[in-house]
Amino acid sequence: MSLLPEFEYKRPESLEEFHHLLSDYKGDAVILAGGTDVMPRIKMGLKKLNLILDIKALEGLRYIKDKGQNMRIGALTTISEIKKNKLIKDKYPSLHEAAKLTASENLQQRGTIGGNILQDTRCLYYNKPEVWRKSFRPCFKVGGDICNAARGGKKCFAVYCGDLAPALISLGASVRILSKKGEKQMPLKEIFTGDGKSPFSLSSHELVKDIIIPPDKMRGGYEKLRMRKAIDYPVVNIALSMGAGDKGRLVVGSAGATPLIYDFPSHDELSGIPEKAQNDMSPVNNMYLPPLYRKSMVKVLSDKLISRI
Ligand SMILES: Cc1cc2nc3c(=O)[nH]c(=O)nc-3n(C[C@H](O)[C@H](O)[C@H](O)COP(=O)(O)OP(=O)(O)OC[C@H]3O[C@@H](n4cnc5c(N)ncnc54)[C@H](O)[C@@H]3O)c2cc1C
Repeated sequence: MSLLPEFEYKRPESLEEFHHLLSDYKGDAVILAGGTDVMPRIKMGLKKLNLILDIKALEGLRYIKDKGQNMRIGALTTISEIKKNKLIKDKYPSLHEAAKLTASENLQQRGTIGGNILQDTRCLYYNKPEVWRKSFRPCFKVGGDICNAARGGKKCFAVYCGDLAPALISLGASVRILSKKGEKQMPLKEIFTGDGKSPFSLSSHELVKDIIIPPDKMRGGYEKLRMRKAIDYPVVNIALSMGAGDKGRLVVGSAGATPLIYDFPSHDELSGIPEKAQNDMSPVNNMYLPPLYRKSMVKVLSDKLISRI
């Protein structure tokens, strides 16, 4: 069993205390929400750190607010709370279905929306304990110079396997980010860098405060391919959300380091997207189902989703 390394642990209770702790800190600090993504990585020696900043005691980050227009979901809201929320079920079916299919019941109760969005990219050769990884040369993601999954590859091909982000991006969600300098808001799709090694544009001093979802796409759904139905990351996941005149967005997750996004102005244009998405996806052999199978399932799942919406 992998053991935790030594680190300092702090649990700030206010944003002021959080920013103060981070700005004064000289070593590597890691934000911890539910811990279900980051703790296994720390145990496997994938995340070096000196300090854990547990944000669960921060006030005012756990809410689902809707005053009839945009919905705001606080970063510490759990996946279980999202799944059970009646308004989300009625107003944002793609998000509701994605939450239902995320991991397992116990992980849904612990894992938060902020942590889910910012979960690290994954690879069969990377998400392994240190002793296992020692039989391979260090890959790009651990600071080396090769990709063990795609020999000869010139970059990291680790895959983003989050369930909620594709659904949120299909809904046109934005994210509010806090730092000592203040607050900024940006479309969720823009936090992805496209680089498997370093998948997000946020700095280690930035905190996701909440996610803002506009109200205009109330039809939609979510499909997910995974090995074990009781608990597993997606190996292909498709989110679809549509509004007036069937204008909408289809998003393909687990396709690479960043979700693939397809906007369509009407239902006529939607019908060509599954084939295009399948052609666009260039998977490598770094997940537990073969790349060609995953690629073919993009069209299968997209067609299935379109036919039931
Ligand atoms: C067995 C198993 C199965 C899983 N299956 C799935 C699955 O099917 N689908 C899926 O999507 N995920 C899955 N996960 C991953 C994980 O459970 C979820 O992504 C979960 O939602 C992560 O949330 P968390 O609060 O636990 O994140 P944490 O582990 O606390 O954090 C994740 C990352 O986000 C950062 N972070 C967290 N909150 C913030 C914030 N507010 N601001 C800035 N940075 C922040 C952390 O520093 C860390 O890097 C699985 C995990 C396990 C162990």
